[in-house]
Amino acid sequence: MSSVRVAVDREASAGERSVTTGATAAELFTGDRKVIAARVGGVARDLAHVLSDGDEVEPITVDSDEGRAIVRHSTAHVLAQAVQKLFPSARLGIGPPIANGFYYDFDVERPFTPEDLKALEGEMKKIISSGQRFSRRVVSDSDARAELADEPFKLELIGLKGGGNGGGNPGSPTEVDAEAAVEVGGGELTIYDNLDARSGELCWRDLCRGPHVPTTRHIPSFALQRTAAAYWRGSERNPQLQRIYGTAWESREAQKAYLAMLAEAEKRDHRRLGTELDLFSIPEEIGSGLAVFHPKGGIIRREMEDYSRRKHEQHDYSFVNTPHLTKARLYEISGHLDWYADGMYPPMELDEGQRYYLKPMNCPMHNLIFTSRGRSYRELPLRLFEFGTVYRYEKSGVVHGLTRARGFTQDDAHIYCTREQMPDELDRLLTFVIDLLRDYGLTEFYLELSTRDPKKYVGTDEEWAEATETLRQAAGKQNLELVLDPGGAAFYGPKISVQAKDAIGRSWQMSTIQVDFQMPQRFGMEYQAPDGSRQRPVMIHRALFGSIERFFAVLLEHYAGAFPPWLAPVQVVGIPITDEHVGYLRDVAARLRAEGVRVDVDASDERMQKKIRTAQKQKVPFMLIAGDADVAAGAVSFRYRDGTQRNGIAVGEAISEIVAAVRDHRQV
Ligand SMILES: [Zn+2]
Ligand SMILES: [Zn+2]
Repeated sequence: MSSVRVAVDREASAGERSVTTGATAAELFTGDRKVIAARVGGVARDLAHVLSDGDEVEPITVDSDEGRAIVRHSTAHVLAQAVQKLFPSARLGIGPPIANGFYYDFDVERPFTPEDLKALEGEMKKIISSGQRFSRRVVSDSDARAELADEPFKLELIGLKGGGNGGGNPGSPTEVDAEAAVEVGGGELTIYDNLDARSGELCWRDLCRGPHVPTTRHIPSFALQRTAAAYWRGSERNPQLQRIYGTAWESREAQKAYLAMLAEAEKRDHRRLGTELDLFSIPEEIGSGLAVFHPKGGIIRREMEDYSRRKHEQHDYSFVNTPHLTKARLYEISGHLDWYADGMYPPMELDEGQRYYLKPMNCPMHNLIFTSRGRSYRELPLRLFEFGTVYRYEKSGVVHGLTRARGFTQDDAHIYCTREQMPDELDRLLTFVIDLLRDYGLTEFYLELSTRDPKKYVGTDEEWAEATETLRQAAGKQNLELVLDPGGAAFYGPKISVQAKDAIGRSWQMSTIQVDFQMPQRFGMEYQAPDGSRQRPVMIHRALFGSIERFFAVLLEHYAGAFPPWLAPVQVVGIPITDEHVGYLRDVAARLRAEGVRVDVDASDERMQKKIRTAQKQKVPFMLIAGDADVAAGAVSFRYRDGTQRNGIAVGEAISEIVAAVRDHRQV
């Protein structure tokens, strides 16, 4: 019997193996149910893939990112099969894996109902337990066309194939969009047949590039989640299809944890909490993505800004102010009208044809402050800071509460320094940024370094190498995980972003520190060096919160509305046991107010228990309760958010405790 030699790349059993000619990848990993596919010569393949001499083979396990994506996509097939069983006239769109799940699009006579999803889940469970085999078959274009004659959307994909390997060929006229690439991105056309476990009979089939799990039984856990309308291939000019979203995981436990996180995220949704706690709204009359802050939200926002302002003062920033509008000329100089026009609101025509734009970025205006007079090296580093409100035209589909808005205020700074000052400046900057984020109560961070896209950049090799290395060194000093984003930098310079994890483990991109080689050139920025020569400064863009609105939303979700006392709009509520104790609590409140504490006394007609519930719902950090015994002793009783209580605390002591918690940014 002839044999082929393959190299198995796996921690436990790395090395060369000899297998029989015609052996499949599955045979290398028999007995290990976690292995659901294999990477052969760097390409993800089904376990049924036949090995050739010299192949390098790595297992893909169900609990890896790649493995989960294969499970999720395979589950999408099962969903489509179930849909065509229960809705025989349904026509198929595409069904790719996405972050944490999958979807499949269908052309159906009416939108799916929640009952439909239940029925589909039932049908899918039957298919999964029947253990159908996913079987790959290469087909010619014309055979595929004949076989899929009544699947018009699949026929269209066959025509799009042209894209080469993987994700298609971006920008080319026959571009296969990333998600459609799941079906036809592989160069050759393949159909996957679902075959009955016993008889081998054809149960269903789909045009697909693969790979898939070996059988439907290899789908450990799944759930359907929701439906939505979606245009075919994302274009409004195309027919509208019905999309079903679902999720699938390597185990029931993993899925349970994920669904629990989603439920928690929904409870914490800043749009929902914004209404419940009366913090902000986005009135239809003003427009999508344009928020108004109500008095309580305004207090939180002011505290956030005041603290940031004080910290910036301590770190030698100069405060500037710039207008919201500018002539087009400024954005011609900066280049924004060349490469950022889509993100800008259309211009207004004023003063006999003069075009004015709402500003999408503050930098060009700060640059004009720099160039407003001659600059000496003695003034550098010059750090200009502004709470600058900008307007960006986000598509209505991506606008999302305060996290993706059309008008927002950046805590924006631009730093101009010499090349020699850059290492020290970046180092200080990163420390400043992370310390400040910690002061707001975020504790877990990692850094991401975006490096040059070799096809698209300005500046010299030397400048890029120096700036990238300087950023890397600054990052290294923070003792935080550093993730590389190769080729992810904007064309004008490398960047570090600070990613923060919130209370339920989600990552948010917070601050960015961006080196810019282009603007100093475009604006002709110069300073006079000690030797009298004219030199170009280095420019660093830095937004610490990103935007105040977005950071507000992140903190609101992180704390689930229960802000630490220093940020809480109402820090203390006085709750009298009966009406007779109102006056006493008002005196206590006056003393707290004198210490700068935001305090209310609930003198309404409600019963005490109801007042406690109201304060709890409003997530007030401290409730001070007073009855006869407290009045007699000159004391109050604390009730905290978690329901615990401390009775008979002397008023002076109670005030010190509250003042200290506010001052120290302590959470309670
Ligand atoms: Zn597939
Ligand atoms: Zn900037």
